[in-house]
Amino acid sequence: MAEDFQVLISGAGPVGLTLAMDLARRGVRVGMLERRKPGEPPSVKCNHVAARTMEAFRLLGVADAVRDAGLPADYPNDCVYRTTVTGPEITRIPIPSRAERGTAFAGPDTWWPTPEPPHRINQIYLEPVLFAHALKSCNVTIFSETELADLSQDDTGVHCIARDLPSGRTRELTARYLVGCDGARSLVRAAIGAKFAGDAVIQRVQSTYIRAPRLLGLIPGRPGWMNLSLNPRRCGNTIAIDGRETWLIHSYLYEHEEDFAALDRDASIRTVLGVGADFDYQVLGKEDWIGRRLVADTFRDRRVFICGDSAHIWVPYAGYGMNAGIADAMNLSWLLAAHLAGWAGERALDAYVAERGPITEQVSHFAMNHALAAMRHRREVPTEVEAPGEEGALARRRFGEAVYSLNVQQYCCGGLNFGYFYDRSPLIAYDGESHPGYTMAGFTESTVPGCRTPHFWLADGRSLHDVAGLGFTLLRFDARVDVSPLMDAALQRQMPLEVVDVSPQERPSAYREALVLSRPDFHVAWRGNALPSDVPSLVDRVRGA
Ligand SMILES: Cc1cc2nc3c(=O)[nH]c(=O)nc-3n(C[C@H](O)[C@H](O)[C@H](O)COP(=O)(O)OP(=O)(O)OC[C@H]3O[C@@H](n4cnc5c(N)ncnc54)[C@H](O)[C@@H]3O)c2cc1C
Repeated sequence: MAEDFQVLISGAGPVGLTLAMDLARRGVRVGMLERRKPGEPPSVKCNHVAARTMEAFRLLGVADAVRDAGLPADYPNDCVYRTTVTGPEITRIPIPSRAERGTAFAGPDTWWPTPEPPHRINQIYLEPVLFAHALKSCNVTIFSETELADLSQDDTGVHCIARDLPSGRTRELTARYLVGCDGARSLVRAAIGAKFAGDAVIQRVQSTYIRAPRLLGLIPGRPGWMNLSLNPRRCGNTIAIDGRETWLIHSYLYEHEEDFAALDRDASIRTVLGVGADFDYQVLGKEDWIGRRLVADTFRDRRVFICGDSAHIWVPYAGYGMNAGIADAMNLSWLLAAHLAGWAGERALDAYVAERGPITEQVSHFAMNHALAAMRHRREVPTEVEAPGEEGALARRRFGEAVYSLNVQQYCCGGLNFGYFYDRSPLIAYDGESHPGYTMAGFTESTVPGCRTPHFWLADGRSLHDVAGLGFTLLRFDARVDVSPLMDAALQRQMPLEVVDVSPQERPSAYREALVLSRPDFHVAWRGNALPSDVPSLVDRVRGA
């Protein structure tokens, strides 16, 4: 007989694991299929865990374990632009190391309204932490070295064929819903007939993962987490992986260079690093990749959904591929769990595509436009940046100003974290006020329905995220307002709702109304100075009845 789950997830990458953990804490029984061995690290790719993702990890109880992993606590997180990794500095975006986070407040991301600032850690260290945490949940069963081979669905559920990779044997699994978190080559995306559309080629990059114990000692001054080389010969990015001796080097091809094989890997690496033939390094891995901007034309077919790279991929500017996928997961998770628990209707499931579709399209354009601007900078590096004396210093200063103002937006992308809003959701009670615009870096905190619920600290030092419940949270800024009709209507429909009373001293300026109804994913569902005349309709709207 087929093993049965409420939700099956194909792919235990960062997005699938986050989805599984959040569903599990909401009481959903989850089965996961993953081709890799238990805890086997992925290839060395993503390095930036956004603040919004760290907030999700805080809710899942894994933020501290993630923050304790990755670069050594005192390793600088700065993004440093030099002519070469070992050459003179052009500009620097200061980002506190994790040891400095509580004490350094001068950097461009140190004022952000969040209980969880961003964290720098490579995916090879991040994923085993998430995997170990997911395994601890009794609601999660992970089938490692097992791939999803086929699927079909009908009105009652999804039927899957899974293949055990070492033996080749197949097994049958069933679930009420299936989510494809199976990456850019997603079988699930193909199975639901969704198609990627967008820009197939933006940038070609030759990446090499190396061990080079001498490099750190050759870098002048404070090293960076990102060490970006800008010179007229070969530009690149050298990322600190273990903060001691391993590095990921991206050598950027110019637009006219279409053939990866024509690029001499070793010569490019030496140019990017600024080292001679006597410098020793060991190659640990090689990958040539094309930065694209592709978004699926739908993220759902009835009982089957796609999340993360299976739904969208783009050039890794702003480091927001995985982070956007984790935002998909945190959105879909509460909607699915609420529907399975019986208090949210079918419209709740429609909301996933209506909410996440437009956001991923927006982020994909932010990333692509930034990539195109950075490519222009690389084409236009002034030859004098490498000149000796005052001439070189002046050229580096001037170029450095332009480089800083462009790139601070991607390395401190506050807008992608806190600025986006859902403006066409069937679950949100809009009130006519326009949402404040946002850019990659810029955002305005707001309670316009659809925006992120503005974060604040309570007088006792707790974060809003620590006091909000698993369900809806009604923030009440005036204790005289009677909210019992809303509590009663929610209770009748078994919609979890808690009230948090906030004193005038704790109330941040973004909150104007006396009442703000915050969803389980910390987006505003409704606000007002008093309850509406038809409270049951409001409850039915926000739960998608
Ligand atoms: C150079 C580079 C740098 C990047 N930097 C960043 C960054 O700093 N920040 C950021 O947010 N993003 C970054 N990204 C993007 C990020 O790596 C991806 O967005 C992220 O890995 C997507 O996670 P995912 O879980 O959706 O998919 P994946 O990580 O691809 O995981 C999919 C999983 O599904 C499994 N799988 C596939 N098919 C099946 C099947 N049929 N059955 C069972 N299992 C299956 C795979 O084994 C895999 O484990 C970067 C990407 C690149 C290329």
